Amino acid sequence: MYVGAHVSTRGGYIGSAKTALSMGANAFQYFPMNPRSLSTKTVNLRDAAACAAFCREHDMLSIGHAPYPLNPAADEAERELMVKLLKNGLEITNACGSVGLVVHFGKYVGKDPLQGYKNIIQCLNSATHGYEGASFILLENQAGEGSQLGLTLEEMVQVRKLCRNPEKVGFCLDTCHAFASGLWQNHGWSELEAKGSHLDYFPHLKAVHLNDSLHPYGSRRDRHANIGMGYIGQHNFEELLSSSYLKHIPVVLETGKGPDGTHAEEIALVKALSRDA
Ligand SMILES: [Zn+2]
Repeated sequence: MYVGAHVSTRGGYIGSAKTALSMGANAFQYFPMNPRSLSTKTVNLRDAAACAAFCREHDMLSIGHAPYPLNPAADEAERELMVKLLKNGLEITNACGSVGLVVHFGKYVGKDPLQGYKNIIQCLNSATHGYEGASFILLENQAGEGSQLGLTLEEMVQVRKLCRNPEKVGFCLDTCHAFASGLWQNHGWSELEAKGSHLDYFPHLKAVHLNDSLHPYGSRRDRHANIGMGYIGQHNFEELLSSSYLKHIPVVLETGKGPDGTHAEEIALVKALSRDA
């Protein structure tokens, strides 16, 4: 399996890959650009190419996480800006050899939720227009805090299908969000897997955010906990980690660091849970 954690880009993209390897990870996530801003970034192609080469050499998989304010469901007035950011993000994840750019499904606070879905589809259409890179746009499911969009597999699959370039769009499953939103319940992995296979969700799953949940099932609250320390618990993670859909994709922790300041211990735990499963 490809297991790792979100890491800093302090030493560049190559630095994030080296940090990941040093903690026993063979997968990682990084921020391609400033996570809190809506400004684009000039790509350091040398750094990105070094990252890609390092990952090939060490058989590592990576994903980039788009800036938090990037909202594909935003209204038309902001579309151009959102599309520009998506293209910039994809340019970087491609150069780094990453599987994809993870983007939150989108928040829509207007009256008509259908308009929110339309906005997402148009945003994805524009971002993928003429795009030939290998990195996917990876839609991440939401916990349901502050917006009711992107909580179900049906929405994910439908939006992807209605896009003009669905072959450029895949999914990133966040386990904390899935639990908080009510998508994944205790002892419910096999049921979820069967449903997601049938709906054509899992065949397009390209990454997992592996997080326990600080709040109970269906709470709609997005607070990550370390694996086994939250309401999801080790047993449910064992079920999930045994899935064949997770064998060849990056599985990345977005949890707090251990006492040594890294995720080394938690990565070892996840690898042990996946072996025992
Ligand atoms: Zn996440």
